[in-house]
Amino acid sequence: MTDLTALTIAEAREGLAKKSFSSVELTEAHLAAMENAKALNAFILPTPEIAEKMAREADARERSGSAGPLNGIPLGIKDLFATKGVRTTACSKILGNFVPPYESTVTSQLWRDGAVMLGKLNNDEFAMGSSNETSCFGPVKNPWRREGGSNVYLVPGGSSGGSAAAVAAQLCLGATGTDTGGSIRQPASFAGIVGIKPTYGRCSRWGIVAFASSLDQAGPFARTVRDAAILLRSMAGHDPKDTTSVDRPVPDYEAAIGRSIKGMKIGIPKEYRMAGMPDEIERLWAQGAEWLKAAGAELIDISLPHTKYALPAYYIVAPAEASANLARYDGVRYGLRVDGRAITDMYEATRAEGFGAEVRRRVMIGTYVLSAGYYDAYYVRAQKVRTLIKRDFEDCFAKGVDAILTPATPSAAFGIGEKGGADPVEMYLNDIFTVTVNMAGLPGIAVPAGTDGQGLPLGLQLIGRPFDEETLFTLGAIVEQAAGRFTPGRWW
Ligand code: GLN
Repeated sequence: MTDLTALTIAEAREGLAKKSFSSVELTEAHLAAMENAKALNAFILPTPEIAEKMAREADARERSGSAGPLNGIPLGIKDLFATKGVRTTACSKILGNFVPPYESTVTSQLWRDGAVMLGKLNNDEFAMGSSNETSCFGPVKNPWRREGGSNVYLVPGGSSGGSAAAVAAQLCLGATGTDTGGSIRQPASFAGIVGIKPTYGRCSRWGIVAFASSLDQAGPFARTVRDAAILLRSMAGHDPKDTTSVDRPVPDYEAAIGRSIKGMKIGIPKEYRMAGMPDEIERLWAQGAEWLKAAGAELIDISLPHTKYALPAYYIVAPAEASANLARYDGVRYGLRVDGRAITDMYEATRAEGFGAEVRRRVMIGTYVLSAGYYDAYYVRAQKVRTLIKRDFEDCFAKGVDAILTPATPSAAFGIGEKGGADPVEMYLNDIFTVTVNMAGLPGIAVPAGTDGQGLPLGLQLIGRPFDEETLFTLGAIVEQAAGRFTPGRWW
């Protein structure tokens, strides 16, 4: 039989419909692959019993002709999504053994459509990070390694590092992620797979552990653009439980693949050509532009003048919102409690013990920028900058630009322990090309497009108009077709 873990979602869907194999067989193949890939530390909580049960139910639905669009497809779930009856920790000690009595809207829609849950995936603590090194479960290893027999373990990116590693290593057919400043697109690039952050409001945030509520969005990881389109259709949609989710129909994203891009205008923003950018990133970007041009698009030079303020403004807005969101972890209602003489001692001891260093740093920065004396100087200013960043994009779209092409990351995956030790800003710079998109609430897709000098995958980013994910799938598929697919050699 073919290797069931090497299939795409589209291929698996076809095989299941034709009864070439069952969901139980497909699920068991993935559970075995997970068992053999423990060294990657991608899954922090496999749920084999749940998976087997869901797979049996999917097979029954297939037989009775009531299969939904994701029937029998095994997926991994980032540990930021609340899963009913299944431990959900955001990879923080402070949530301890929290078992939610409810299911997030996004995951419940995946199960509604027939998908099978394989388990919970590692991520940076509360999704704060770019390397998955801040997780209380320890770092995830990227399935990719540098060419030439290098034995350096690389990060898979973050914060959705477990999701990216698991999909690239063929431990699941797809996975969920969340993206506040780049946490889907950067790990997708580091792992040579596809990831899309939809427009803010496209997916419900209900039941997802909150980091920065005005920036957080859920989205899928998959090995092909088509698979990402299939997953997003199930994940997206209006939810009365999240007032920021938008009530507009969810298109058939898959149908956008293969559409003509003749005459489409692709913006190339000059501000994304950073000083000191490696040549290979420059070349990749130029190559991507050529591919789109060859398919009939028109390339136009554009300017997004406030780009350079995006990262500093993000590191005010995101920690400010995080400090408010994380105030709820006080040892009273759920998770860890460290006793103290009086209630304030208990709060302090719990939060000191339960939060890791990066989370504590963000809470302190956030509290500082929101404090009475500094609110106008930092927080209000950052919000104004955010408006300017959004306006830059609006101006380009108003001039007829259909989508914007940029590199996804400033480099390929780096080694575990290599960055951010002494200087957190070194780590923050990973999101230089992605945070603008969250600040403006726009959709962005990362598609693998080439490799660096050491054979590691590199991604390109396409940024779209609000709610125009379809164009991103159309364009992404063209890049994918030209670049081919990227699969790591197996060493684990
Ligand atoms: N790396 C960014 C941060 O640390 C973005 C994380 C994310 O998108 N969740 O905040």
